[in-house]
Amino acid sequence: MSSSSLADALREGVRGPVLTDESSLERYSFDFGNLRRRLPLAVVRSQSEQDVVHTLRVARSFGVPVSSRGAGHSVGGQCLCEGIVLAHDAEAGEVRVLEDGRAEVTCRSRWKRVERTLAGAGRMFPILTNLLRTSVGGTLSVGGYGVRSFVDGAQVDQVERARLILPEGQAVWCSREENPELFRFALAGFGQVGVLERVVLRTLPDRPIARLQMNRHRNWREMVDSLAWTAEWEGPGPELFFAEHRAGKLWSIFGTQFETDAAAQASSLPEPLVRMARERVHMVANVDMLHKGEDEGELFDPAMYRVMGDYCLDLEGLRRFVAFLEEQPSRFWLPNLDLVRLLGLAQPKDGGRWPFDIRAAYGGPQRVYGIGLYYLGPLSDQAGLEAARQAHRACMEKCLELGGRPYLYGWMELDRDARQALYKQDYTRMRALRQELDPRGLLNPESL
Ligand SMILES: Cc1cc2nc3c(=O)[nH]c(=O)nc-3n(C[C@H](O)[C@H](O)[C@H](O)COP(=O)(O)OP(=O)(O)OC[C@H]3O[C@@H](n4cnc5c(N)ncnc54)[C@H](O)[C@@H]3O)c2cc1C
Repeated sequence: MSSSSLADALREGVRGPVLTDESSLERYSFDFGNLRRRLPLAVVRSQSEQDVVHTLRVARSFGVPVSSRGAGHSVGGQCLCEGIVLAHDAEAGEVRVLEDGRAEVTCRSRWKRVERTLAGAGRMFPILTNLLRTSVGGTLSVGGYGVRSFVDGAQVDQVERARLILPEGQAVWCSREENPELFRFALAGFGQVGVLERVVLRTLPDRPIARLQMNRHRNWREMVDSLAWTAEWEGPGPELFFAEHRAGKLWSIFGTQFETDAAAQASSLPEPLVRMARERVHMVANVDMLHKGEDEGELFDPAMYRVMGDYCLDLEGLRRFVAFLEEQPSRFWLPNLDLVRLLGLAQPKDGGRWPFDIRAAYGGPQRVYGIGLYYLGPLSDQAGLEAARQAHRACMEKCLELGGRPYLYGWMELDRDARQALYKQDYTRMRALRQELDPRGLLNPESL
């Protein structure tokens, strides 16, 4: 097979550009982490469902692998491929607010556009992740957690229906009632059973102003102790929560959202916060400041590595995990450690369960916690890179020992046996489904 005949076959049925020139292929040969390289044969900038269907059919007839790519912010090579990269074109994204306030959104859309369109209609999506330049399909394929996960869980919990293009190119709608097993495996499913084309999402009335309380802490152990109340907290109380440790400063931040500045200023603090910390600051701010929405181009630097990994634990697990980190500062608090971030994650309200969702290890507590360590530096600093990898190897081992789960968008070394041991019958079922839907294993072969 020549790459030009593959490109010709793709161009016959695809509206968006099909890229085969060296510099374009190079740009899609790495992801945000830049720790793995896979040079594709062709890149399809898909602009419609038909583009996706045609690309999957061509991949099948040529017997080449094909991987979905949204904004490419995975860090472990999950969206890379040596065959065809189906790079969902953000410019062709559509966002429609339905009469009942729900939103129908194509998965190639970036969250910034979703957020802006909803705000224009007086609505908001309950969970936005830290980065609004990521794609709807990309974050719904990994789970999607943010500062409101404290009360509303994950992005995937907010999906009512999804249109999925199966590996052979057949399109189906799925939901909790319609093709429920496909629905379960498509969300937080790393593109294993198909390509997410569009989704119908729950939304909330917009409340763009946040009243925030920032608590300064001396160390992680002290902070985790001060968070003990959050594990089973059912409110009324703060809706927003995250903690960040950067440049030696550790803050936990709680907040509540309001429609107006005046309402935020007039509000009183929910009870547990009053008692929370020895040093605190209050502010009223636009919720926008809690997310980043810059252009995706500027941060993709082929000269940098990013070793990012997040681990989900219950409160006791978190307590032991942070003690483990703090007991060995020279192993974890490396010069290339940019940020440590913590989120509180409410369990799904309707008892739903996504097999590869980081929260799924826990049936019991109301809330679990996701802690991420993010190292970055120039690729020329191989010693720093190796130290960061070693740190994450140790974190993974500790996380698994404590009964936790890794967030699979990140950088990790988990072979198939380790994944089988971790996800048990869900992993077995996912592999059986793939055998049925994609017997040659061509779709997203490296993402899970
Ligand atoms: C700096 C940074 C900050 C982050 N902050 C957060 C955060 O606050 N909360 C959080 O939850 N996560 C966070 N993440 C993780 C982020 O949500 C994931 O990396 C997510 O995958 C990014 O979306 P993307 O569009 O870049 O996906 P990609 O990396 O392009 O794809 C991710 C996975 O989804 C698959 N995929 C992509 N599109 C589709 C589709 N349409 N159908 C089926 N499969 C598809 C890909 O093949 C791949 O397996 C962060 C990541 C970075 C780098």
